[in-house]
Amino acid sequence: MAPATMRTDPSGEEIASGANRAGRRYDVLIVGAGHAGAQAAIALRQRKFAGTIALIGEEPELPYERPPLSKDYLSNDKAFERLLIRPARFWEERHVEILTGKRIVSVDPAAHAVVADGGETFGYGHLIWATGGRPRRLTCTGQELAGVHSVRSRADVDQMKGELARADRIAVIGGGYIGLEAAAVLAKMGKGVTVLEALDRVLARVAGEALSRFYEAEHRAHGVDVRLGAVVECIEEKDGRAAGVRLVGGEVVEAQVVVVGIGIVPAVEPLLAAGADGGDGVVVDAYGRTSLPDILAIGDCAMHRNPYAGGRPIRLESVQNANDMANTAARALTGDLQPYNAAPWFWSNQYDLRLQTVGLSIGHDVAVTRGDPASRKFSIVYLKQGRVVALDCVNEPMDFVQGRALVVGQVAAAPERLANPDTPLKSLVAG
Ligand SMILES: Cc1cc2nc3c(=O)[nH]c(=O)nc-3n(C[C@H](O)[C@H](O)[C@H](O)COP(=O)(O)OP(=O)(O)OC[C@H]3O[C@@H](n4cnc5c(N)ncnc54)[C@H](O)[C@@H]3O)c2cc1C
Repeated sequence: MAPATMRTDPSGEEIASGANRAGRRYDVLIVGAGHAGAQAAIALRQRKFAGTIALIGEEPELPYERPPLSKDYLSNDKAFERLLIRPARFWEERHVEILTGKRIVSVDPAAHAVVADGGETFGYGHLIWATGGRPRRLTCTGQELAGVHSVRSRADVDQMKGELARADRIAVIGGGYIGLEAAAVLAKMGKGVTVLEALDRVLARVAGEALSRFYEAEHRAHGVDVRLGAVVECIEEKDGRAAGVRLVGGEVVEAQVVVVGIGIVPAVEPLLAAGADGGDGVVVDAYGRTSLPDILAIGDCAMHRNPYAGGRPIRLESVQNANDMANTAARALTGDLQPYNAAPWFWSNQYDLRLQTVGLSIGHDVAVTRGDPASRKFSIVYLKQGRVVALDCVNEPMDFVQGRALVVGQVAAAPERLANPDTPLKSLVAG
């Protein structure tokens, strides 16, 4: 594990700020050393930005990839070292100073400074806020018990893995991607897994009904007990640990480990307290700029008007969005203002199923299934007012690659032609 504070380059100038505290100043200070923060630093250097850069993160590790946490890191198929976004040497060579184990608790936009939980002050020329989100917690009794886990950080997953040996029965609360991915890994380990979803289908927030039903059936076929309309009342306790999940209605689902995957809350309190516009995330313009001077925000925490959502303000939680917003911010800081308009894409691995999504299906009015779901190789094309807005491709990488142009061009296509798997999607691009 990386030491708590890693100064790879003493490039920060000493400045005086705050009553008796001396702090360092960076031309670009990035708060949050995850996907977006790391990519912002990488893109700035790629664009020949020569000023000082520091990346401050509250976790003890160098920036690492989060998607494997619910996939091959949980299943022990990938060691943590292989999750690092870049090795330590990369940051050193590019003079990006990485300060780990520091949580920024306040921002002073007038002084161009931030304060860490230990009281240290850091000055900035520009601040990039890239803090992602914290796992949403249950609010019921027992949510704090030993055995109840989130899946957001390496520490969360290490802690859970340490308890798996003594757990035969696991309850996963939340049938979103993270919950389902964890359920798939745990079922493959031979655990008795129950997925508890409050709505009437899994993936309801992100996918059309046909895909939800397909994944429900897949999980059931792998022995997972998928419960829909299952509303959690509390976590039951035995000997100071979680012992089960009590549902509204009285049933108790036995579980020695409870995995909570019910979304995130954007980590933006210090920025909002400093006066930034926002609420569920911090509001940014097309270039990633917040309402505060010289402060940008990117990644999961940034509420932006996305052209693929009809220009509505949304937050996206994906590696693509983190990386592309970071690139937009790096451009903005190096004099190349280009609006953020990247096509959203996403993936999820469950069992031997690789789902790849492009576009946003929210608000679609027609969903066309292409291929036979029973073959476990098919796509769903989503249309809105006759135009393609998104695709979900299951074990169909060709559709994902070719369908992208349909989404980017919002191509009008006849459902009968889309439905025919013998018609390559690229042949429909011209409309
Ligand atoms: C288990 C899991 C599986 C996923 N699978 C996929 C997938 O398959 N495909 C996909 O596209 N996306 C996936 N995602 C989503 C993807 O990982 C996120 O969208 C992405 O990490 C967002 O990047 P970010 O930089 O905005 O936030 P993060 O990567 O969360 O980084 C934010 C960092 O900021 C730190 N931080 C927060 N507040 C402060 C503070 N005040 N001071 C200092 N540091 C702070 C956090 O500790 C964290 O390290 C997954 C996420 C998880 C958790």
